[in-house]
Amino acid sequence: MKNAIEQYRQLRRRVEKDSEALSKLHADNIVCAAGCCDCCTNLSVFPVEFYSLLETLKANNQTKLSFNEDLPCGFLKNSLCSIYQSRPLICMSHGIPIVFLNDELEELQYSVSFCEKNFTHADLDEIEFDSSNTLNIDELNSELSQINCDFVNKRKEEGLDTPERIELRRLLDFL
Ligand code: SF4
Ligand code: SF4
Repeated sequence: MKNAIEQYRQLRRRVEKDSEALSKLHADNIVCAAGCCDCCTNLSVFPVEFYSLLETLKANNQTKLSFNEDLPCGFLKNSLCSIYQSRPLICMSHGIPIVFLNDELEELQYSVSFCEKNFTHADLDEIEFDSSNTLNIDELNSELSQINCDFVNKRKEEGLDTPERIELRRLLDFL
């Protein structure tokens, strides 16, 4: 059986592929581009994601990162993500339409959400959003949460305490 970090990486490859495919599918309505970073914000991530990103950064010799406290996400540099290849899963979903079970509506139902800069010229009544053209963020979170649970339990067996989430900025403490 794959360990939790490998499972996380497998999930990551799948999300990356799906996000790229969805970006292509909606290319006419998506204006995301390098230098646009209004969606970036300082994040905390599950431990499995944190330690996987840490390993990847070390393996890629990205050990001299800086973190700018004055920016919405401290890893931005000249409006570009300085850890783009290792960015967290949630950052891969920026811009593409995501579907989720909306519990803020009177009746529990699925809603679709996307960045307000995208789909500005689209006739949204003409677009049928379904599982073929959206990313199901609930499914993604549930899979990630399960993998993280395995990771945390394994560490517990080894006598290691693990916080529920870890701020991404803490990567610098370990590099
Ligand atoms: S990690 Fe990168 S993509 Fe994610 S919020 Fe920060 S700068 Fe943006
Ligand atoms: S999601 Fe929005 S803010 Fe983020 S890169 Fe795309 S257009 Fe820009």
